[in-house]
Amino acid sequence: MSLRNVFITSTFRNRFLHQIRSLSCWSCGNNLKMVSNLFCSNCNTLQKPNERDNFFKIMGVNETYDQDETELAKKYKELQKYLHPDKFANKNKTEQEISEKYSSLVNEAYKTLLEPLARGIYMLKLRGQEIPENSEVGDQAFLMEIMEKNEEVENAETDEEIMKLNKENKAKISDLQKLVSRAFFDGDMKRVKKLLIRMKYYTSIDQQIQAMIRRKGIFS
Ligand SMILES: [Zn+2]
Repeated sequence: MSLRNVFITSTFRNRFLHQIRSLSCWSCGNNLKMVSNLFCSNCNTLQKPNERDNFFKIMGVNETYDQDETELAKKYKELQKYLHPDKFANKNKTEQEISEKYSSLVNEAYKTLLEPLARGIYMLKLRGQEIPENSEVGDQAFLMEIMEKNEEVENAETDEEIMKLNKENKAKISDLQKLVSRAFFDGDMKRVKKLLIRMKYYTSIDQQIQAMIRRKGIFS
């Protein structure tokens, strides 16, 4: 056996052993058959979230930039149905704490994966990269467009005006999403960062518009 094979075999064995360890119930020691099981099949105790799982694993969705919002929301509701701390009011303290921790982890995972910008930044992070603070676009035409949009949003008065701007801005974000998806697919992180920096501007316009919609009580 070559040295390389020895290394691979021991790495594989360590990983395998780790999985076995994490597959026994923390409460009764029962061996869990499935990793995805939230509860021990023997004593029905809630299991701790696996610390090595990223947000995609936690939510049970594919690790890709393209996410179906409806599917994500479905998974979220399903998970919270089982994890909500209210369900553990009569259980022991440890299980209550696990449910609180697990439930807030699912909240964070859902919020992050649902938002196109947050999702992109998170995927960069998983690859050990980030958008540098104060990074600038350096494209004057783009910055002019953003400035004009900001003014338009500030000056919008009627519901129709606001909803028109909302639709336009959502379309901009949606177009960028497609480009980001493509860039991730190509493994081009430089392009991903460039696109996400642009998305930041549209996302901040979006937040402004959503605040206006709430303030004015507009129903779309
Ligand atoms: Zn158990």
